[in-house]
Amino acid sequence: MKTLRLESIPGTAWAAGLVAAACALAALLANASVATLMAAAAGACLWAWSEIRRRDFSPSAEARTEFVSLAEFAPLLEALPDPALLIDHANRIVGSNAAARKQMRFEARGQYLTSILRHPDLLEAAQSAVTEGATRAVEYATPTDANRFTRCYVAPVKWGGKHAAMLVFHDESARVSTERMRADFLANASHELRTPLASLTLLIETIAGPARDDVKERDRFLGMMQVQAERMRRLIDDLLSLSRIELDEHVPPSDRADLAGVAREVVDSMTAVAAERGVALKLIAPSSPAYVVGERFQLAQIIQNLIDNAVKYSKSGDVVTIELAAAGERDDAAAQAGRRWEEAGRIALLTPAAPAGSAYTYVRVEDRGPGIARRFLPRLGERFFRVERELGDERGGTGLGLAIVKHIINRHRGGFLVESQPGLGSAFAVYIESAPDEVHTSVTKTP
Ligand code: ADP
Repeated sequence: MKTLRLESIPGTAWAAGLVAAACALAALLANASVATLMAAAAGACLWAWSEIRRRDFSPSAEARTEFVSLAEFAPLLEALPDPALLIDHANRIVGSNAAARKQMRFEARGQYLTSILRHPDLLEAAQSAVTEGATRAVEYATPTDANRFTRCYVAPVKWGGKHAAMLVFHDESARVSTERMRADFLANASHELRTPLASLTLLIETIAGPARDDVKERDRFLGMMQVQAERMRRLIDDLLSLSRIELDEHVPPSDRADLAGVAREVVDSMTAVAAERGVALKLIAPSSPAYVVGERFQLAQIIQNLIDNAVKYSKSGDVVTIELAAAGERDDAAAQAGRRWEEAGRIALLTPAAPAGSAYTYVRVEDRGPGIARRFLPRLGERFFRVERELGDERGGTGLGLAIVKHIINRHRGGFLVESQPGLGSAFAVYIESAPDEVHTSVTKTP
């Protein structure tokens, strides 16, 4: 329903009304032609009416102006999950929700926005919202934490007839970090593939050119090409494997698998290859099944990658020990699996948020290789990280084996740790939630 209040009639309409009244009075008192004065009065009346009509008196516009009273606005502000502030035309905070007060650590109302936020783009956006009614979004990194990104939406609102602004802060750190990781991953993967590809191109050029008629040299170069092609194949296999694991990493396995049986199969299949390098594999595991909640194929992949590394870094004559046992709760399992050497550096690469009462089974793969310096331990499991490269030696594997283990363990909601001491050796251990030995099926009897 349209309502017309005296205070909402515009000044120009009042002026036109006054002119109309003056014309009518003059027509009565003066000698001017009555017709001319009446015509002027009628014109002024029409002007006044059109000025009044130009104003929007619809209920929605009225409501918009009345809406922003703090009493009505506060519950809306409070209901927002993201931190939100309401500032007045002088940049003073006149409203805030609990999330804002907690995150920005301020108590008193009436503080100036500049006293809690200093980002110039954000302050400028707030200023143009209150002065020009502009809506903007500003993204910025937190000065004290380069990994925290916030996007602030700044929108103008009317506050008691004056311009004010509302600011809503949304945490974008997860999105920005995923975007960065993806970009880093692509750059690293391309770099890793480019290195063997460049070698292959050079070898092909040599065979086609200077070594064309030298059979012995040609065979030597063909052998080198085979090594580079094999390196590319391993890289691509590992990259595909990693992306497949990541695809269902958020869905924990529900199968039940005998970890002791899996370990035995993997050890059997790798014994001959290890023996070629003069390394023996020794499995210490219960002869009865050790059931865990897990996917058989992925469990085999974990054990295989760990043994593969242990053999690679062992000397001829060394023994790699693979030990498997059921342990107690999370912390017991971690202690049993990864606290053997007093002087060693150790780190948990993954620790599960274990539900109370869960018991774990661990596998520990131990070698007498060169060991890993303490400073490198936290980076193990990072894609493409290789200690050798950090030490200026570009040879070695793909740098994806431990990343694959870490992602599989993450999917299994298990733990992953390393214990290593230069000169003594390294031990990598994983622990996975144990499953009951037997599956009990309940039978409902119908009368
Ligand atoms: P790679 O294919 O290079 O072995 P991984 O992800 O399996 O990739 O391992 C990453 C790096 O961790 C290796 O390059 C190596 O520097 C170090 N590393 C892994 N296992 C061992 C081990 N048993 N002994 C010494 N260093 C190891």
